[in-house]
Amino acid sequence: MSNKIVSLYRARLAREKGFIKKDWGGKISIALIYPNHYRIGMSNLGFQIVYQLLNAKENVVAERFFLPDDGEMSLYLESGKELLSMESQSPLLNFDLAAFSLSFENDYPNILRILQLGKIPLLADERNNSQPVVMAGGITTIMNPEPLAPFFDLFLLGEAEASLEEFMGLFIDVAPTLQSKQEVLRTLAQNLHSLYVPSLYHIEHHPNGTIKSMEPADPHIPEKIKVARHLDADAPPAISGILAPDTEFADRVLIELGRGCGRSCRFCAAGYVYRPPRMRDDTHLLPRIAEVMEKHVHVGLVSASVSDTPGIGHITGQIVEKGGRFSVSSLRADSLTEDLLDNLKSVGQRSLAIAPEAGSERLRRVVNKQLTQDQIISAVRLIAQKGHFSLRLYFLIGL
Ligand code: SF4
Repeated sequence: MSNKIVSLYRARLAREKGFIKKDWGGKISIALIYPNHYRIGMSNLGFQIVYQLLNAKENVVAERFFLPDDGEMSLYLESGKELLSMESQSPLLNFDLAAFSLSFENDYPNILRILQLGKIPLLADERNNSQPVVMAGGITTIMNPEPLAPFFDLFLLGEAEASLEEFMGLFIDVAPTLQSKQEVLRTLAQNLHSLYVPSLYHIEHHPNGTIKSMEPADPHIPEKIKVARHLDADAPPAISGILAPDTEFADRVLIELGRGCGRSCRFCAAGYVYRPPRMRDDTHLLPRIAEVMEKHVHVGLVSASVSDTPGIGHITGQIVEKGGRFSVSSLRADSLTEDLLDNLKSVGQRSLAIAPEAGSERLRRVVNKQLTQDQIISAVRLIAQKGHFSLRLYFLIGL
């Protein structure tokens, strides 16, 4: 049975372009885990960015793990085999670090399923020194790591580009030299201000579960943990490195146009976590897009609100002119333009989505969705005039 899992992963790798397989000799090994199926994890640009950043370090080997899908899961359960990595089909237990990339709270139960399949004790204080250090990062941990605190040795809070390099540098230095996992965690927490090690804090809760007080267990541990932010305005846009045919974005390279959003809708994590918003404009983005298009005709433009990107009409026009195709992750009704719609029509996009969120302007104001009835109607009219698109409207239920 376990041979079937190995064959399945090898076949999947054979269909991918751009994965990284390294020799393990003398390197720190990291299991980079997405707590959902391969198809979903490989469609996540953040996960792909972390994979590239880790493997860019010479003394690190990072391999991917996912929650097995139905057929795969049966193979694991029938064989009793530990969860294996994609690249070298190595068991999770063999890695120095098990690093979860967390984007959605709905995936939390899968974290436990994955640890279980990896034969790693679920609770941090039940794990010993020979088992991997279990850590997490990602947008939900920036908002609130506490619900997961009993299961993790550490959280790295913030954007990967701003925190991973320093964290890995120190981990590589201290992990092989210190005796116990707790010593490693203590040294990391003393030196890195974006690191939260739950076992090094005394936390008291109110009866409703909210935090009453939080104190470091020793004076060398920082009282406050800072979220690391990647604020370099000139940094090149993040680009996905692996093309995986069995996924949502099988045929396209994802390009991050900007991070965050200046609109601050109250319910939206992207508007709050990634502050200040960082929008790249067409002069910054076009050279990079042109480079990508030398090898790939189809690009996926990713941003919290693609239509807010300065010069988006020009960017998409250039892609069309060069014979390329593009898709967009999201649009705002009040920043839709005629040229963007024409370009979407040219590349054959059939369906568009905008998000009024609520049925009345009063409720939209309550959730800070600054979108008037007139703006929504104008956007729908503009879309309808093209005579080409079907339209989806997204609403929040239960306001
Ligand atoms: S406009 Fe969209 S991305 Fe921006 S804060 Fe509102 S919901 Fe979030």
